[in-house]
Amino acid sequence: MVKSTKKKRKNGVLAYFMEKLVSENVVSENTLKLIRECNTFMMMVADESMEKKKQHKGNTCKNRFCPICAWKKSRKDALALSVMMAYLKQEENKEFIFLTLTAPNVPAEELEDEIKDYNHSFKKLMERKEIKKIVKGYARKLEITYNEERDDYHPHFHVLIAVNKSYFTQTAQYISRDRWLELWQQVTKNPLITQVDVRKVRNGRDDKVYEIAKYSAKDSDYLINQEVFEVFYKALKGKRLIVFSGLFKDAMTKFKNGELDGYKEKDVTKYVYAIMYNWGGKKYLELEKRYLTEEEMKEINGQLIDEKEVD
Ligand SMILES: [Zn+2]
Repeated sequence: MVKSTKKKRKNGVLAYFMEKLVSENVVSENTLKLIRECNTFMMMVADESMEKKKQHKGNTCKNRFCPICAWKKSRKDALALSVMMAYLKQEENKEFIFLTLTAPNVPAEELEDEIKDYNHSFKKLMERKEIKKIVKGYARKLEITYNEERDDYHPHFHVLIAVNKSYFTQTAQYISRDRWLELWQQVTKNPLITQVDVRKVRNGRDDKVYEIAKYSAKDSDYLINQEVFEVFYKALKGKRLIVFSGLFKDAMTKFKNGELDGYKEKDVTKYVYAIMYNWGGKKYLELEKRYLTEEEMKEINGQLIDEKEVD
């Protein structure tokens, strides 16, 4: 509830910044309406003790800048990621490395070009022979952070890479952190880059991995003020933020088809209550608390868990 309230308040900030874009005909009246109405109605379900709760229904705007919808999506993406990793580990015998590629910060006016350069450089990196040999698939996320003090932007890539187990034992294949840095400097033609982070993912439990699932920008960054919001809006609008390739692409198809459901856990909570809320402008107001009907019980209980807590 606390989280939902926080996110709904931020959704109000988003609607406020969007008003200007509506007046400039960049965003439609209807889009703004959907954002305003997002999660104004919410149905939660709870167990007998009222300790375990989850949202069952609610209206959503699905706008990529909506703090509520972005939060929900990242929880679903995180679950998908953990399922795909479990599958690739077990059935494809793969291990994972987590790579973060960065470059020096850029001012607002250079952000869009910088993102294009990142995409281009990454493509070149993946085409390098020694990389091509070891990468069996990847999930790549573009993330942009904002530095308020310096008023500049920091786009970077998080990449989760599937490799053969032998990658870590065959020295001929293994790519050290220094070599990753060297290659990244070469493909970006920027010798000033000093930071590349690469690590082995331990047991698939390394939380850093879920950076891939998080939204490309933190709402605490892009909702700082109108000007910053518009920079983020322009930079992220219509862009593909997460890209799956190779084994990850195949695994995603399987995941969507339900073929990996065996890797999902069952929710063993017995939900008995339904609680309805309406957004009262500053907080959620409880409208009604009642027992679930028999039919609702059947529908809601015993389902597979399809989201995972992030941040
Ligand atoms: Zn929304």
